[in-house]
Amino acid sequence: MSNLKNKRLFLLDMDGTIYLDNDLFDGTLDFLDKVREKGGKYLFVTNNSSKSVDAYVNKLNKLGIKADESNFLTSTDATILYLEANYPGKKFYAMGTESFIKQLSDAKINIVTDVEDDIFGIVISNDNELTFKKLDDICKLLTKGVSAYIATNPDWVCPTSFGYVPDCGSFAWMIEKATGKAPHFIGKPRPEMLTLAMEKYGYSKEESLMVGDRVYTDIAAGYNAGIDTVFVLSGEGTMEDAENTDTKPTYIMKNIRELYNNI
Ligand SMILES: [Mg+2]
Repeated sequence: MSNLKNKRLFLLDMDGTIYLDNDLFDGTLDFLDKVREKGGKYLFVTNNSSKSVDAYVNKLNKLGIKADESNFLTSTDATILYLEANYPGKKFYAMGTESFIKQLSDAKINIVTDVEDDIFGIVISNDNELTFKKLDDICKLLTKGVSAYIATNPDWVCPTSFGYVPDCGSFAWMIEKATGKAPHFIGKPRPEMLTLAMEKYGYSKEESLMVGDRVYTDIAAGYNAGIDTVFVLSGEGTMEDAENTDTKPTYIMKNIRELYNNI
């Protein structure tokens, strides 16, 4: 575990890793303090593309965690960085919440929300303001043919107080059933969020660590990005998950307290 002492960039999943619902885990605040004392950086990495970062900042501050906007990387942020890097200036049709559309516009991404002649690509996200008009627009464009089709995150469902509602992955699947076209996904388990975080803040793979409670998203994203991972057993994932996967975690720990003891 001596390698963990050299880590400087900590990419953290939230639910199941640092808290569960509204209960902060023992060890979370000590861990975050220690990262700051070491001169490192922590980033909360989330696939959620419908909620704005403000809502997360509020939630974490209420739990007593020192965090502002600069401590977050959402799949929307990663999508913006991805579009800037790969398709600068190109016109994209965007499907998403008002908050998603605003984030892209504020980042000067060339987006429209109606069908036009010279649209280069499509970007879709989790959209709890989805209308049939949007689906109709996207099917029209995909049938005609576009040069790029991007989706913020591959999650099938989004948790709610009563169970689940469809997330971006389900929308993409519905559109694929109609058009035969599938998007390129950005969020976990794809490595983009993590590689973009390392590039943006200037940390090497050796200095970076992904921590999460799901093997198939958090750990897979770290594995795909080529960095060390810590699988914590404080959330959804179990030891069986770690055994039955090709994307094996580098370390398996009981909780964030155990990680605190090893960095
Ligand atoms: Mg989690």
